[in-house]
Amino acid sequence: RQPPRAPDTIAAVATAPGCGGIGVVRVSGSGLLGFAQALCGRQPQPRLAQFSRFVDGEGRPIDEGILLYFPAPASFTGEDVLELQGHGGPVVMQLLLERCLGLGARLAEPGEFTRRAFLNGKLDLAQAEGVADLIEASTAAAARSAVRSLSGRFSEEVHRIVDRLVDLRMLVEATLDFPEEEIEFLERARAMPRLEGIRGELEALLDRAGQGALLRSGLNVVLVGAPNVGKSSLLNQLAGEERAIVTDIAGTTRDALRETIQIEGIPLHVIDTAGLRDTADTVERLGIERTWREIERADVIVRLVDASVSATGDDELAGRLPGGVERITVVNKIDLVSAAAGREEQAGQVTVRVSARTGEGVDLLRAELLRVAGWHAHGEDVVLARERHLQALRMALGHVCAAGEQLAALELFAEELRLAQERLGEITGEFGADDLLGEIFSRFCIGK
Ligand code: GDP
Ligand code: ZN
Repeated sequence: RQPPRAPDTIAAVATAPGCGGIGVVRVSGSGLLGFAQALCGRQPQPRLAQFSRFVDGEGRPIDEGILLYFPAPASFTGEDVLELQGHGGPVVMQLLLERCLGLGARLAEPGEFTRRAFLNGKLDLAQAEGVADLIEASTAAAARSAVRSLSGRFSEEVHRIVDRLVDLRMLVEATLDFPEEEIEFLERARAMPRLEGIRGELEALLDRAGQGALLRSGLNVVLVGAPNVGKSSLLNQLAGEERAIVTDIAGTTRDALRETIQIEGIPLHVIDTAGLRDTADTVERLGIERTWREIERADVIVRLVDASVSATGDDELAGRLPGGVERITVVNKIDLVSAAAGREEQAGQVTVRVSARTGEGVDLLRAELLRVAGWHAHGEDVVLARERHLQALRMALGHVCAAGEQLAALELFAEELRLAQERLGEITGEFGADDLLGEIFSRFCIGK
């Protein structure tokens, strides 16, 4: 890709809104030496932290802080970049930003810095998405996986498969010129075993990416059961000690009805339906409606019953719960009836016996939730992936499988390989429409 000619200059506050010890205004584009001269009264040294006073158009000080200058191409965006580190208050940041706009910069769009980094070849598309996913990671495990994508691990593996596809394509296309020798040639070149090898690698990567997608978006769990059956207690037990470092994914509204906990780093978005019943207030109706929409997207419904109560009277919510969703029945309060913890499966229906008071059996429930989620990875080589990556990998796999059935018609064989390569190229952004870029980068925050 060619860098855009004479980039216009963009500016934004790069740090989170609100008060902080330090706030950063980032500027990227061209003509930044003049910028620095007007703003700080000096020529900045490349990659050197310089204490500076930042002044407004009349020479009055706005703030003082650190000036950083990264000349192109050795910068995040690949363009000239200035970073103004001032005091992190909303007003002072706004004044610094306005000063930059006054000097001819325009306000950056969401994700525009990262988009420029992509267009200038500093990052590929999967890495750029890793940036956003790291910022939005809701658990430590998701953050670690996002860093792997950001540093290019995912892209490298995609490239390795693309390289093998290219090798095979070259071989096949060379063979096309000598039709009478086709079959013999392919046999000597071991085309089929090589195709099989590519398929195996694709399947393995798809599996790991699937685990990464789970790590990224988590599992929607709905807790149902009569009042006092132990829903809140169970939620506390499930959250355990990891509760403190769990945050909701940025950008989604936090409300009392939905709580995010984690199990082995998988975010579990849990809705305690008690909140639906308890809140009759009209002001909260919107929240309740939103919760119902989330319930529609449930991955698993956990239904609690009380071991110490014989008649469990069917829950009035049951009728409104979505069908065709995994269900786990939890028999709680086994400590009251001196029963043992355990897991049973009958006709595909899983029942777990626990005590939310003593914690007995809660590990079994955690394992069951992970099983339902399809989680089987062991952390370190999971790459954080998005649905669009999975889609591309699946389609590439489809073309590789189709190629295997076309050995008798080499043109078709070659064409399937080409299509597989193109789908993989969409992951890293080598093939891809501009509207895809727009969609991806518009979800970034401003200043990133
Ligand atoms: P919720 O209304 O379904 O959220 O139920 P709570 O979690 O608020 O629990 C209701 C009551 O049952 C509380 O007094 C809990 O301490 C108690 N409780 C919950 N789980 C257990 C359990 O496993 N064993 C015993 N003995 N009591 C429990
Ligand atoms: Zn409760």
